[in-house]
Amino acid sequence: MQTKLIYLESMDQYVDEARVVQVMNEEGKIVVTLDQTIFYPQGGGQPFDTGIISNQDKKFLVEEVRFVEGIVKHIGKFEGGEFESGDRVTCFIDVQCRELHTRLHSGGHLIDMGLKQLGVTWKPGRGYHFPNGPYVEYNGSLESVDVEKLKGDLETICNQIIQKGIKTSILFMPKEEMNSVCAFVPEYIPENKPARVVMYGDFGIPCGGTHVNNLSDIGGVSIRKIKQDGENIRVSYTLIG
Ligand SMILES: [Zn+2]
Repeated sequence: MQTKLIYLESMDQYVDEARVVQVMNEEGKIVVTLDQTIFYPQGGGQPFDTGIISNQDKKFLVEEVRFVEGIVKHIGKFEGGEFESGDRVTCFIDVQCRELHTRLHSGGHLIDMGLKQLGVTWKPGRGYHFPNGPYVEYNGSLESVDVEKLKGDLETICNQIIQKGIKTSILFMPKEEMNSVCAFVPEYIPENKPARVVMYGDFGIPCGGTHVNNLSDIGGVSIRKIKQDGENIRVSYTLIG
């Protein structure tokens, strides 16, 4: 049974009820699967959530979360006894950690938006939105680009966008329709989960991660470095505020 991904629709839901599907031992690791989950499994450059799943006096400490063939695997350890299939449980994700991951992830897409507003047409590639040195990559060339000027302009425009307090919203749509609202649609969109676009105002982003409700929640962004890395351009950033 595929796990219903609550975080796709409710990106700031931090507590939820669920039912245990299975408790398994996989290569020495204890894995709990649920009918639905608010836990974000690592992917799309965003780290997994951590937290607790509890049922009365039994607790499962979630240390790692992975998405495997449509199923979210919560990996961790039990305290006070194990759950059984069918048990009702309550999920609590680590809010501070999730909020930081969400701001970092949205900060990366804010850079996509800032570059587009500056008229830069590099094709977005992979993003790394982890707290230890986040960056976004693009396919393009820095030849004949004044990098220092671009760095300054990009930082200014990103922070101007933050100041505008633009709201985000969610659209579920087939991949074929995404071109109508997104400047870039990646060739590969996973087919084992609902296809989703997140709108930053009128700027559409095909993405399954978690995003801020309002771009002002990012706080502020600093562009650390823009450098060529083979065929890619890497824009390193950090959050401020
Ligand atoms: Zn994303």
